[in-house]
Amino acid sequence: MHILISGGAGFIGSNLAEYHLNKGDQVHVVDDLSTGSRANVIPFEDNPSYRFDEADVLTWPGLKESAAWSDRIYHLAAVVGVFKVLAEPIKTLATNVAACERVLRAAHSGRWNPQIVLASTSEVYGTGVHCRVGETIACRDIDPDSIPPFQEDMEPLVGSSAISRWNYSISKLTDEAFGVSYAKVHRMKVIVTRFFNTVGPRQTGRYGMVVPRFVRQAVAGEPLTVYGDGAQRRCFCDVRDTVSALDALATGGSGWGQIVNVGHDQEVSILGLAELVKKLASSSSPIIFIPRHEAYSEDFQETVRRRPDLERFNRLAGGFQYRWNLERTLLDLIARERQKQPVPSQGGTNGH
Ligand code: UDP
Repeated sequence: MHILISGGAGFIGSNLAEYHLNKGDQVHVVDDLSTGSRANVIPFEDNPSYRFDEADVLTWPGLKESAAWSDRIYHLAAVVGVFKVLAEPIKTLATNVAACERVLRAAHSGRWNPQIVLASTSEVYGTGVHCRVGETIACRDIDPDSIPPFQEDMEPLVGSSAISRWNYSISKLTDEAFGVSYAKVHRMKVIVTRFFNTVGPRQTGRYGMVVPRFVRQAVAGEPLTVYGDGAQRRCFCDVRDTVSALDALATGGSGWGQIVNVGHDQEVSILGLAELVKKLASSSSPIIFIPRHEAYSEDFQETVRRRPDLERFNRLAGGFQYRWNLERTLLDLIARERQKQPVPSQGGTNGH
């Protein structure tokens, strides 16, 4: 198969490129390396089935030609990560919305009616509760059990556009509407996938993601920084499961025009995650609690519980089998982190 991956040098994109190269597919990656990195794709550069273009999808002259060559397009290029979204609110909106529409338009003008997998996010479910602008939601005020698993047909509860943090989900919700509309109007094979807290090799903690941060902190013997009281809950899905799930959804072929959650439903509190990382890394790092407004900004709104309803996913992906669970993923990430970091001279934190 001919596979085009926009944002293919990023965390999920590079895992997707690796997956398809291993399957024997031809893979064309386009990435402007703004959050993605060349280091993520260097291992593929000797592979004759791999091609890379450093370009912004918004202006890339090769897009039409590559879209016409593709059997399948994964559109992942976007401004991502809470820190980056807060720092670059305009770029988040402009890039995320316009690039997606340009990809859909290019695919529509191509010859093959390629399959298109659009990356969206569980962030479109917002906090799962109605709240007022300026209200910081503290976990102690809301019982996580009162928030149900997020199901695709729920009305989105995206936060206010007055708050920069929500620009990401506002942009992705717009992308979803574009995707569904192109599928309807032009009968295109578009599926919208909402990712829930994807983790795994090559994810960076630079833009805020909790798992790579805790793993690095535990291995380095630094304090694990829990934001808020740590009662907020998440479900983490290993990226190696995520990429084969995306392939299964597109190959299954019954989800065109639909929106589907992609993730795992093994749930953990953030404090529980910190304790698990510490234990698995045999780390003596302390766990410290940082108020959310110090970690992000005054207007930050926490999602107290985020868990996917996977009924639609299981139906469309045809009995998908996960190969990873949280413990296995963390052990793997801890081992990888140890290879990166020198062993501290005053031992005790590395557990070798
Ligand atoms: N978080 C944390 N410490 C960190 C980074 C993140 O406690 O060093 C928290 C964050 O506030 C959130 C959860 O971990 O409640 C997951 O954060 P992440 O940015 O990975 O994903 P998202 O907020 O999108 O679920």
